[in-house]
Amino acid sequence: MRIAIVGAGPAGSYCASLLARQGADVTLFDRQATAWEKPCGGGVPPKVRERFAEVLAYDGPRRAVDVGVFTSPSGLPVRLQSGRPMWIIERKLFDGYLRELAKQTGAKFIHQRIRRVEQAGREVVLHGAHEYRFDFVIGADGCFSVVRRDLLGPIPKHLVSMTVGYFIEAQQTEAVTWFLPKPGYVWAYPRPDHICLGGGSSDPTLDMWAEVERIRVAHYPTAVVRQKWAAPIPFIRDPSFFRRPTTGANFAVIGDAAGHVDALTGEGILYALWGGALLAQALPAGDHRHYEVAWHDAYGRELEKTSDLSARFYDPRTMERVFGVAARSATLRRYLMDIMTDQPSYLETGRMFMRRLPMIGLDLLRSLW
Ligand SMILES: Cc1cc2nc3c(=O)[nH]c(=O)nc-3n(C[C@H](O)[C@H](O)[C@H](O)COP(=O)(O)OP(=O)(O)OC[C@H]3O[C@@H](n4cnc5c(N)ncnc54)[C@H](O)[C@@H]3O)c2cc1C
Repeated sequence: MRIAIVGAGPAGSYCASLLARQGADVTLFDRQATAWEKPCGGGVPPKVRERFAEVLAYDGPRRAVDVGVFTSPSGLPVRLQSGRPMWIIERKLFDGYLRELAKQTGAKFIHQRIRRVEQAGREVVLHGAHEYRFDFVIGADGCFSVVRRDLLGPIPKHLVSMTVGYFIEAQQTEAVTWFLPKPGYVWAYPRPDHICLGGGSSDPTLDMWAEVERIRVAHYPTAVVRQKWAAPIPFIRDPSFFRRPTTGANFAVIGDAAGHVDALTGEGILYALWGGALLAQALPAGDHRHYEVAWHDAYGRELEKTSDLSARFYDPRTMERVFGVAARSATLRRYLMDIMTDQPSYLETGRMFMRRLPMIGLDLLRSLW
């Protein structure tokens, strides 16, 4: 079977390497000749490197960050410390590593922007500067996936959010997040040699450029701006989206093209790799439709839960209450850090919270004395 993968980001490259390792005939397409600095926080929590040996083996530059400083909409700061650091990587290098892995295991690479995809009998035709015919196509071409648009329909506009920001020449050791008076936040993630400063919101009335600029001027007034960027991210606030199909007769979508991003944290690298791995298991076994069942079982319910929780979590009034308690309770601070960086499943958060509730109560009582 001739397999095409459109998009050599983490989802496409990782899936290509696993398929090629099994002897499949795989061709990877990307509109960028080499890996590029995709606008992204670059946060890779421990659960990602523990799940994927290839990520653990990544020895490119990264910053290990174990302190997060969060500021509430009214300006109340809370410092969270984790025993297990998050890596912050540069996407050009990390994606380059995965793309190289795919090539080394035998995937072919073609530098080509695919503009249109169509089914022609049993084949799928990719239209770029040339025409290519395959037996199966995998859409790993991100949030505005052409494969998805032409074979399944795009991710609806109201489930996509625009993020904006800068790469600035500054150094810090902590990951900093400022929550805004309307649902949304600005973050500053320290990369090995610069900071990724960016913001996103689900509220279209919020001027995100103005919010990010306000933080830049206030906190990094002298830092040189290396690059200004804007990028879309699937922000799936409707859990029913995850019941829509991600496969068809001879195609499947993975990663951002499938909308597989955590609606609480905006993290998608985990699901890009995980979805790619599940499809690479199902496809050679002759049952690509099993990918649909497999990702639902593995992380689909978890993604639904993040959709469900995000509207409540980002409500500035809820946020203010949570910060008010967290400022006085070390137990709640630890719980929040677990959720943000390390927690195995959001399905456990309710039970985990109930177990810690008596200790949180005790912390609050102690704080009065
Ligand atoms: C501002 C921002 C911050 C983020 N922060 C984090 C974070 O800290 N941690 C985290 O885990 N996730 C984060 N994410 C999410 C993460 O970046 C994505 O979930 C992840 O990159 C998805 O990987 P992917 O391979 O599916 O898609 P992508 O990384 O988007 O890769 C798609 C690839 O397809 C190529 N392509 C697109 N269209 C075509 C075409 N027509 N023809 C050929 N090639 C094409 C592109 O060039 C690209 O290489 C963030 C996202 C944004 C926007």
